[in-house]
Amino acid sequence: MSGNITLTIIKPDAVANGHTGKIIDHIISAGYKVKAMKMIHMNDREAGGFYEVHKERPFFNDLVSFMTSGPCVPMVLEKDNAVADFRTLIGATNPADAAEGTIRNLYAKSIEANAIHGSDSDENALREAGYFFSELEMF
Ligand code: ADP
Ligand code: MG
Repeated sequence: MSGNITLTIIKPDAVANGHTGKIIDHIISAGYKVKAMKMIHMNDREAGGFYEVHKERPFFNDLVSFMTSGPCVPMVLEKDNAVADFRTLIGATNPADAAEGTIRNLYAKSIEANAIHGSDSDENALREAGYFFSELEMF
């Protein structure tokens, strides 16, 4: 499975703004298979654990507040070259820099509330998939 999966989260801003369905359709139309999906509302410990690599960054506390502000939709996705292609599909972290037609260009409002997460390496994709889903929950 390694190399072919990535972990995404449709973030609380996109869920609250009613973009969940359109974003899932965009992802499936780009050739990804949904291997696992659920809607959760994270607490501080859960969001902080997910973004542990960023805990020394100045925006960490705000990021945790944002990620706990409402429900979000983590998903495990499968496709060849899943991680790199998905980063291209979602666009740059700051939606102001995100290429035309990318998910962040279409649905994100700010560098923090940027609609969607995508894993940045195969190693992190596996860690992040396991953070949200058990083996039994992945098809
Ligand atoms: P990406 O999600 O594109 O991989 P990072 O891993 O660098 O970006 O950052 C994780 C998340 O933290 C971003 O998606 C965004 O929600 C938030 N973030 C990143 N940089 C900033 C910033 N300068 N100010 C506020 N929030 C930020
Ligand atoms: Mg990242």
